[in-house]
Amino acid sequence: MDQAVESLLPAREERFGYICHRCSRCCHHKKIQVNPYEVARLARNRGQTTTLFRAEWTVDGAGTVLQQTETGACVFLAPDGCTVHADRPLVCRLYPLGRHIVVGEEEQFSRLEPHPRSEGEYLTEGTIADFLEAQEADLFIQAADDYLQWFDDALNMLAGDLGTAPSTIVAMPTTDQGRLLDMDTAIAAYGASTGGAEPADIEDRKALHLRILYQALSLR
Ligand code: SF4
Repeated sequence: MDQAVESLLPAREERFGYICHRCSRCCHHKKIQVNPYEVARLARNRGQTTTLFRAEWTVDGAGTVLQQTETGACVFLAPDGCTVHADRPLVCRLYPLGRHIVVGEEEQFSRLEPHPRSEGEYLTEGTIADFLEAQEADLFIQAADDYLQWFDDALNMLAGDLGTAPSTIVAMPTTDQGRLLDMDTAIAAYGASTGGAEPADIEDRKALHLRILYQALSLR
């Protein structure tokens, strides 16, 4: 989500508590970024392949940002709330916290400035760790870190090939890279070339997808 940061909270032991009263105001005018794992979770929730999901529900079919309606609402917001709640992305689980990660450094959290008419309720009890547990955020945090690590490794390898600094490379996926980042397409192509069966479990699929992505780096 792109939103004003109020203050940085350095650790999960930091005091924090929040109860969502489902006013849904935070589901408007937000850039909801998703990684391949989140796309896979949402696609499964919708009964679609990741390929179809990316094309139908993400901006420009790129698989990185959820679409909004004309009113600025998230495409998955219905009158009675989020229609993909069980598989909602990490940023939705964290709100009103932001999580900031740089590869090789400790995570940091920030309090995001709430919507002026938000009905959410801040608590004086609990910690960030408690909040993350209640939001079942762990698998999503792990996936975010794993894909960021791959992206960082890819940038560093590309920078080495080009003889430039990673920060000067603008990441713009080509069609082939886009297919590689589409989990179901990448796994199907891998299965076809190796003759192996596709795992059904989504965590196993994430692990295989990352193996495929790293293999692609080594073959570049
Ligand atoms: S995915 Fe669900 S919780 Fe997240 S912005 Fe969309 S409607 Fe809101």
